[in-house]
Amino acid sequence: MLNCIIRLGKEISMDALLKTCPKCGGQMKIKSWVLSDLKTWGSWKVARVLGIQKFDNGTEVYTDKAGRKRSKTIYRFEEHPELGDWFDVGMQLNRYRVLIEEYFPIDRMQIQITVRDGGLQVVTSRGITELIYVREINKINDEEVKEFFIEKQARFDEALDIGEEVLQIPGGLCTLHERWDDNKCKRYCEVKQFCPHGRLIKEG
Ligand code: SF4
Repeated sequence: MLNCIIRLGKEISMDALLKTCPKCGGQMKIKSWVLSDLKTWGSWKVARVLGIQKFDNGTEVYTDKAGRKRSKTIYRFEEHPELGDWFDVGMQLNRYRVLIEEYFPIDRMQIQITVRDGGLQVVTSRGITELIYVREINKINDEEVKEFFIEKQARFDEALDIGEEVLQIPGGLCTLHERWDDNKCKRYCEVKQFCPHGRLIKEG
């Protein structure tokens, strides 16, 4: 398996499609390409994307330092990828794939997620037990990917043209799904200070 960093938008020379044979030192054509993207996300987002689900696993009785009997609920966590929010990262990697495949085919895609707050207690309470996760990304139909980004670009251009009035037009604001029920506006959106809705949420 070979991971390679390619600067999108720059011409790829044929040298990039060759590798040196470890035995004979000759040049070999690379047959299998994996598109890998490195992410650093907070545990809340990691749990959301991976589809981590929390289940009540009964009650545990224990004795506290003063000798009193206490009980606490025990939770277990399961990863359910079918419930995860893969849309944004899936579209992003597939966008890269479509661009790269103008030069050569990509066999599969994956992300490596580093948990930014890994190791803190709050992280385990969200069911995140690893510091790093590597997960496959599914292929999305090329036309669907292209249409999505054409529409996104059009919305972005429109927002730049008409400024805050963009919120008055249907679809002008990020959808509820895109803004993660406003959690993205609160904590993760990098342009929230320029967005009326982001400012509203911050003040709220
Ligand atoms: S702050 Fe604005 S731009 Fe950012 S996610 Fe929320 S609605 Fe979208």
